[in-house]
Amino acid sequence: MAGPHPATIAPFPADDHDHSRCREGAMAAAEALCRRRGMRFTRLRRRILELVWEQHQPVKAYDLLARLREERAGAAPPTVYRTLDFLLQQGLIHRVESLNAYIGCGEPGHRHPVQLLVCRGCSAVAELADEEIARLLQRKAGALGFQADTAVVELEGVCPQCSR
Ligand SMILES: [Zn+2]
Ligand SMILES: [Zn+2]
Ligand SMILES: [Zn+2]
Repeated sequence: MAGPHPATIAPFPADDHDHSRCREGAMAAAEALCRRRGMRFTRLRRRILELVWEQHQPVKAYDLLARLREERAGAAPPTVYRTLDFLLQQGLIHRVESLNAYIGCGEPGHRHPVQLLVCRGCSAVAELADEEIARLLQRKAGALGFQADTAVVELEGVCPQCSR
């Protein structure tokens, strides 16, 4: 992907937005990405990504498992975790460490730093991919002789909807 991408890649969604467009856009992007990378977008991978994208609130692995079991009696935890790992590796979802849950990436298809804003009111998550923040952290860590390779940046606060 050419050029720098904008720092904000997923703002807080408006109450009245058409979420089916978010979901369909995410599924189409995932399909194109898997095809481009020669990865199989199996029915299970597709279904779990769909379940993650049902809302803008992060979803926990055991909730995904419960949903999946309604459709596939034999669904087991390793199945869910393996699939989540695949989606994480491909950058299709992100892990919200503070909630031990997952959200869909607002702009998959390229590596980007991830800074998540987590609303303590409704649990909605917005996503920043600010290179400047990432570089600043790298530099500060580097000054201590620390080679950072992973940065988990999560801010907890109140989203525009909840602060009204
Ligand atoms: Zn939406
Ligand atoms: Zn992302
Ligand atoms: Zn909120």
